[in-house]
Amino acid sequence: MNTWTIDDAQKLYHIDAWGNEYFHISDKGEVEVRLKDNEPASQVSLLSVVKGLQERGMKLPMLLRFSNILDSRIQHINESFLSAMQDAGYQGTYRGVYPVKVNQQQQVVEEICEYGKQYHHGLETGSKAELILALAHIDDNQAYVICNGYKDEEYIDLALRGLSMGVQTILVIEMPGEVDIILQRSRALGIKPNIGLRMKPSTVASGHWTDSGGDRSVFGLNTTQVIHVVDQLRKERMLDCLRLLHYHLGSQIPNIRDIRMGATEAARFYCGLVHEGAPMGCLDIGGGLAIDYDGSHTDSANSRNYTTKEYSYDIVEEVMNICKEENVAHPTLISESGRALVSFYSVLLINILDTNIFWNGEKVEDTLDPKLLPALENLLYVRTMLNKKNAQECLNDLNYYREEIRNKFLYGKVNMRERAAAEHVYWEIVAEIKEKYGDIESPEFQKLEHQLSDIYYGNFSLFQSLPDVWAIDQLFPIMPIHMLDKKPDRKAVLSDITCDSEGKIDRFIGHWEPENTLSLHTPPEGEDYILGVFLVGAYQETLGDLHNLLGDTNVASVTYEDGKFRLHNELEGDTVSDVLSYVEYEPKRLEALIKTKAERAVQDGRITALERRKIIAAYTAGLRGYTYYETDQEE
Ligand SMILES: *Cc1c(COP(=O)(O)O)cnc(C)c1O
Repeated sequence: MNTWTIDDAQKLYHIDAWGNEYFHISDKGEVEVRLKDNEPASQVSLLSVVKGLQERGMKLPMLLRFSNILDSRIQHINESFLSAMQDAGYQGTYRGVYPVKVNQQQQVVEEICEYGKQYHHGLETGSKAELILALAHIDDNQAYVICNGYKDEEYIDLALRGLSMGVQTILVIEMPGEVDIILQRSRALGIKPNIGLRMKPSTVASGHWTDSGGDRSVFGLNTTQVIHVVDQLRKERMLDCLRLLHYHLGSQIPNIRDIRMGATEAARFYCGLVHEGAPMGCLDIGGGLAIDYDGSHTDSANSRNYTTKEYSYDIVEEVMNICKEENVAHPTLISESGRALVSFYSVLLINILDTNIFWNGEKVEDTLDPKLLPALENLLYVRTMLNKKNAQECLNDLNYYREEIRNKFLYGKVNMRERAAAEHVYWEIVAEIKEKYGDIESPEFQKLEHQLSDIYYGNFSLFQSLPDVWAIDQLFPIMPIHMLDKKPDRKAVLSDITCDSEGKIDRFIGHWEPENTLSLHTPPEGEDYILGVFLVGAYQETLGDLHNLLGDTNVASVTYEDGKFRLHNELEGDTVSDVLSYVEYEPKRLEALIKTKAERAVQDGRITALERRKIIAAYTAGLRGYTYYETDQEE
């Protein structure tokens, strides 16, 4: 029955559906990443990268980043819009801006500014700190820097001074009150601003992150406020500064219909502003371009029912239609795609530390001490009665007898060994029922799969590395990166190493519906069993927190250039001492406290001076160490 093929593995983990040509399984059964589009020589096995890094001393868990993929995504989105415009005869152009909040890492921003220069790809900032980094990195006077978020004087001054140096900053008014200080600062500095308006679309998109639309969204101006701001600008003779209309329906919009509706509404507003006499020029459609995390190509929250091509074609078409009706020139279209740009950029790799296997198929009576059997009589009797018709009844009986034994234990009538044997027999028979009659359609039977799944302990913190899994049940594709030429023989849920019961993953991408378990292999003896969590480039890195004081993971970048792979930008994850100082401990003081304590123990004759030296060495090594589980301690 050894008929398992790579094709089966591909189907099981749906890698073709979400991997988007960047990830696939090799003939050797390893996940490979393809760093350059259409260049088979740029494929490399993730396992071989991990091994290379381990030889260089880097430990799991680690995050791998692929800047070639970032380049490919920048190209993909820009080319999509440019060809949509060309095909439709659109008179304006396209300018992407990258919202810094999606992944603020310097490597990301730097790559987008450098590689994106050929498309004049710019940046979107939502705070002073983001604007400060944007002003330094952008080096292209045709790329826009869209300034969103609440703005104090300092924020506004920075944007204006940037403009005076040739950086195309646009100050987007999010609240009516911002108009006054923008005008005031611009007069004070003698710099004429580029002003944008953020409107509150009444279109509300479906999905997880779409509260940005609708009347109750916290950002943007409603129609009355838009008119008010226009009147105010006209009165101050500043209407000629109004250059842009912005809206944002929310992130990860799964349904193209909502995107079309939003574009229609915004295009009408845009034309309305032109009719009011504003010069305008730019329509900024915000973010929302979704990623197909579960590979289902549907309008479910973790997917999308459209491609980037359809997205760009539909928006271009809607805007053109309305501009034609209203007799308005085609604006420069700006989009603020973040997720769609950076999700593919990084992969989190975690090693499995241990497993808790519920039932491994052995027949329990053969291993039980015969003395224990009388206490188990009822439970074992259930098995002799089991058939398809009474499977549900047997399950009920098993639950009853297990409860009875637990009660007897409380009254001291059953001892600890007997109770342990009973629990074991119980699970064994439940597993047998599931094996034989698991297809019975009752809620209780459906639950068995989950109840009987193994627990795999992964070397990671959900809260640090995958916060959206915890916060909003987001799905990410998760799968082993090797052994895929062998059939996975276990079904498991994943636990992290925080001691928080929420630190687990028990929803995984499935064929149509999410599944409660993940198919995995029995981990190989004496070797790492490594899982990859894919598409984690957007939002995960800086939303994470220090729950249980597990810090940033190690990071390395892999690039492919001129036929060669390069490993670079290795960043060591947080040390214990780093995370402790984040919560205001001083490592030096901790060391001093330990030294004093150990000295007292020497004085009291509990340890020797030599032992003290070893204790202190171990303590300081611990402070310098990685916050995650370290498997090999050799130097
Ligand atoms: C978060 C955000 C984005 C990014 O959205 P994605 O769906 O990740 O592309 C764009 N614009 C604004 C204003 C945002 O707040």
